[in-house]
Amino acid sequence: MRLILLGAPGAGKGTVAKMLTAIDGSVQISTGDILRAAVKEGTELGKQAKAFMDAGDLVPDELIMGIMKERLKEDDCRVGFLLDGFPRTIPQAEQLKVLLADLGIELDAAVNLDVPRDVIVDRLTTRRTCVDCGAIYNVKSAPTKVEGVCDKCGGKVVQRDDETEEAISNRLDVYNEKTAPLVDFYKGEGILADVTATSSEAVVATIRERIGA
Ligand code: ADP
Ligand code: ZN
Repeated sequence: MRLILLGAPGAGKGTVAKMLTAIDGSVQISTGDILRAAVKEGTELGKQAKAFMDAGDLVPDELIMGIMKERLKEDDCRVGFLLDGFPRTIPQAEQLKVLLADLGIELDAAVNLDVPRDVIVDRLTTRRTCVDCGAIYNVKSAPTKVEGVCDKCGGKVVQRDDETEEAISNRLDVYNEKTAPLVDFYKGEGILADVTATSSEAVVATIRERIGA
């Protein structure tokens, strides 16, 4: 399947994407994960992106498009892909449209995960992430067995630099201003699928029904 996952930070895009990969082998492509890996490795991309990310601001479109142009050409994308956290601005969406047309690829849907703001804030402040493998935990609903230690790889599990109250509030403002307009953009493209369910299982079931996967 070829999907865009839209939704505010904390709407569950990553969790849903991981569940969908298991259905048909489509790959999850998270620009946030790619950027965090670059920061950790200290690459040129990472150096350019870090300050934006820590403040909860968007990384410039040119950097993101540079990443995605290469990524979408890789072989593993042929089976299908789930775009998680991209596109995030109207210029990114417009450039993605051109890129996909060049590659001869059609999208099945742009899925909008619509989750109330109070649920989102609660989820983000309690979210914890493994610095080594990216596994996601939640201090309330899905804690690690040993505090601060990843169940999967033994790595350190921490609160992300952009998950302080202040950065979260900024990320949500940035989302409303820059990313929310994409819902109308994809409505105009005729491929919008609005999903209001809050449990990931229900979201996945609705998406499967909608695209017949
Ligand atoms: P979220 O939990 O907010 O969905 P992500 O892991 O997708 O977080 O992104 C983390 C940060 O990486 C964002 O706040 C932003 O700084 C940067 N980022 C990720 N994807 C994009 C994108 N498509 N365009 C611009 N910045 C991005
Ligand atoms: Zn881990």
